[in-house]
Amino acid sequence: MATKKPEIITDKNQMRNWSRAMRSLGKTIGLVPTMGYLHEGHLSLVKQSHRYANLTVVSIYVNPGQFSPSEDLSSYPSDFDGDIRKLMSLSKGVDVVFHPANLYDYKTYKNSNDINDCKRSESGNTGSGVVSCLEEKGIGHETWVRVERLEKGLCGKSRPVFFRGVATIVSKLFNVVEPDFAFFGKKDYQQFRVIQQMVRDLDFGIEVIGSEIVRDEDGLALSSRNVHLSPEEREKALSISKSLFRAKCSAEKGQINCKELRGLVIQAINDTGGRIDYAEIVDQESLEAVEEIKSPVVFCVAAWFGNVRLIDNMEISIHN
Ligand code: AMP
Repeated sequence: MATKKPEIITDKNQMRNWSRAMRSLGKTIGLVPTMGYLHEGHLSLVKQSHRYANLTVVSIYVNPGQFSPSEDLSSYPSDFDGDIRKLMSLSKGVDVVFHPANLYDYKTYKNSNDINDCKRSESGNTGSGVVSCLEEKGIGHETWVRVERLEKGLCGKSRPVFFRGVATIVSKLFNVVEPDFAFFGKKDYQQFRVIQQMVRDLDFGIEVIGSEIVRDEDGLALSSRNVHLSPEEREKALSISKSLFRAKCSAEKGQINCKELRGLVIQAINDTGGRIDYAEIVDQESLEAVEEIKSPVVFCVAAWFGNVRLIDNMEISIHN
């Protein structure tokens, strides 16, 4: 049975006023930040929020600040009406969907011609984000949150502006929504750790909750980007989760040498024609690479299948 339609708020002041009014009534608020095109992975975060908080806000915002000029912001999938229907299909509903048009403020800058140029080039589907374009011209949003060490490895190597964009927009969402709890999927493990660290370092009074990866029945980690995989590519992409599960099994049977375990996963992905971006075994806290599994680690993989870059990971803890 469908639950009631969430209130849709697009204005950040209205969003903040709603949160403050609810908090003044003694309600706690859970925030689930998303870029939309929702799937069961996102819905699992909403269900987590129901367990922790009185009220739940889901934000839907495709963040231009985390796309570099070479990445195609314009092809990111979206289906706002479908997202609302999915949220309403849950047994307990969502109170607000925060869906701002834009969270980077271009209006205050001097040269409106430059801003219009950037907006025009974006609508021409050049793949260049408006924010990146404005930055190249030396104007635009100026304040960025960087989590200096954690943002560097893994995805940060091939996506140098990604975590800066994530940390900045999540800070803004925290400042606007003022939640008590925020929910992040461990599917994006590095992102989860970056946000945890940021919350600690900047004293946001928010509890960050990490949620387990939701997979399709065959093991593929759910992702909005999976829609871009052809059926053949999707089949091949199973090599990521299958080999990660095998590596976890080997480690639990005593294979703690990370070079060996990485080799297993790299070969499985290469054999199906996937192109590896990275396959690293890192400490769960520091995200530093380890040579042997002695403390809890996470085996993180990013690989391309066709034009689609997928990420997945497996937490591994050895109990002696
Ligand atoms: P996105 O819309 O891709 O930015 O993701 C929004 C949130 O959903 C992030 O915290 C992701 O980590 C989380 N998420 C995405 N896919 C999954 C999944 N398969 N399982 C659990 N959480 C997920």
